[in-house]
Amino acid sequence: MRKKRRRYNIHGMILCGLVFFVVAATAFCMVANSREAAAEEKRIAAEKKAEAERMEKEAKEEAARKEAERAASFAVQPGVPVGSLEADMDRKVVYLTFDDGPSENTGKILDILTKYGVKATFFITGANQDQRPLIKRAYEEGHTIGLHTYSHNYSEVYASEEAYFKDLEKVGDVAREQIGYVPCFIRFPGGSSNVVSAKYKKGIMSSLVEKVQEKGYQYYDWNVDSTDGTGCGKDEIAANAKSDQYHHAMILLHDSQTKGATVEALPGIIEYYQGAGYEFQAIDRECFVSHHAILN
Ligand SMILES: [Zn+2]
Repeated sequence: MRKKRRRYNIHGMILCGLVFFVVAATAFCMVANSREAAAEEKRIAAEKKAEAERMEKEAKEEAARKEAERAASFAVQPGVPVGSLEADMDRKVVYLTFDDGPSENTGKILDILTKYGVKATFFITGANQDQRPLIKRAYEEGHTIGLHTYSHNYSEVYASEEAYFKDLEKVGDVAREQIGYVPCFIRFPGGSSNVVSAKYKKGIMSSLVEKVQEKGYQYYDWNVDSTDGTGCGKDEIAANAKSDQYHHAMILLHDSQTKGATVEALPGIIEYYQGAGYEFQAIDRECFVSHHAILN
């Protein structure tokens, strides 16, 4: 009887041992599996992070490369011609061009351009030093910066060729400070067809249009005048800025401090050209060039 009980005890102990072994082995396997899964998850997360970092780095390098290309292309290069007087008739393009800034209105105009997702060109002056960071902002937002003159004072800039280029160099320095280089795009105060310059020097426009191109610049006039320079109201500006006469419409607008009406008219002008199927383009080295007839 006692022998039989002892045998039961031994069997019980063996069974317990086996159960313990199975439980321990299962637990060990579960822990090992979960550790493996965690390690795998970690490895996948690290791979994903490395891939995201690589893509971000590549995107940054691509943006920097494009930016360097834009700067190299837009910088003034003596002897290299800029643009074409022949418009590509397969496209309908509108160039919004703003003169006389920067001013507080430049910021408002940039907000509107961003809202509509369109690009424009700013021909800058030396006015409003405290607003100059807006030149940088405009450039970084994909708009083109051109030069208008530093002083915008006809009696100074049209006194002589030398005076004109001295002033152009000064506004070129403002551009360089803000965007890193001197752009090749310029607009003459009053346009190349102005006759006011004759009061200060006869024939100066005829010689300047040649000289600027020799020096690697290109000048841009306009074929649509919004007439905002005359101080008219929002509705008149909008009406005059809308034209269906040209495949390539280069519109004269202003972003100086007194041109609040231009800011108000701008959304309607953009909507008109969007509705008429035009592309909006900031001036670049290849685009259409608008030249007036020279009258002085
Ligand atoms: Zn002007």
